[in-house]
Amino acid sequence: MSDFDGLKALVTGGASGIGRATAELLAARGAQVAVLDLDPSSVDKPLLAFRADVTDDTSVREAVAAAVAELGGLDVVVNNAGIGAEGTVEDNDDAEWHRVMDVNVIGMVRVARAALPHLRESSHAAIVNTCSIAATAGLPQRALYSATKGAVYSLTLAMAADHVREGIRVNCVNPGTVDTPWVGRLLSKAPDPAAERAALEARQPTGRLVSAAEVAGAVAYLASPLSGATTGTALAVDGGMQGLRLRPV
Ligand code: NAD
Repeated sequence: MSDFDGLKALVTGGASGIGRATAELLAARGAQVAVLDLDPSSVDKPLLAFRADVTDDTSVREAVAAAVAELGGLDVVVNNAGIGAEGTVEDNDDAEWHRVMDVNVIGMVRVARAALPHLRESSHAAIVNTCSIAATAGLPQRALYSATKGAVYSLTLAMAADHVREGIRVNCVNPGTVDTPWVGRLLSKAPDPAAERAALEARQPTGRLVSAAEVAGAVAYLASPLSGATTGTALAVDGGMQGLRLRPV
């Protein structure tokens, strides 16, 4: 028996990048996994696929209900769907702030609200939110994105406190720079994407980007009974970016 056998999991943003790697890892370890995504057309068996927009409460409620019905219950929610935003506070107008907050923060709230009644029925309930080192690192040119992830971090702690006596654990992962289609899209805007990638890799303590599979490993740990005494924590998966203070060589 693996620690994932029989677990029923839902992964938002599970059609791409970190969410996709997480859904595939959980399924490979024996969990039954439903993916909720704006575009789940690329999602194959054994993963179950549901179309949902996390900015639309009705869409979330219907997709969570359909996923729970097909899974036959719910133990794990991986709240991962998110979008990026670049610039300082002068670069994004109110509409952009509302749009990104709606996806990255309120989207997680909508999914949690729809899932909590089902999680209360589970004896291994866990929520794992995809946060970011941006929550606490003070990254330049990422004011709006960082603010959304700061909110995700606070939300994780508050939810962990609210639901601990119900047996529902709530944690988050804080990835650094992860090699996903998202980062590919950012790099493709540079005049020389290959040179930009090399510079990005050189800025990492490890000399390389984090892989989506490495973030998935941390999410899987926090989602499984292996981490049964862990709640209200953020697990960094950043190649040492925040924890290490390396001297320049
Ligand atoms: P990605 O773009 O590869 O995947 C994101 C997925 O979310 C896509 O499948 C997309 O369709 C889905 N999605 C977007 N908006 C949605 C909506 N409104 N409703 C439902 N689904 C929606 O991105 P990724 O790099 O895998 O990022 C996933 C998460 O990881 C995000 O929360 C992001 O903030 C976080 N993160 C990424 C990095 C990184 O370097 N890639 C670093 C730290 C944190």
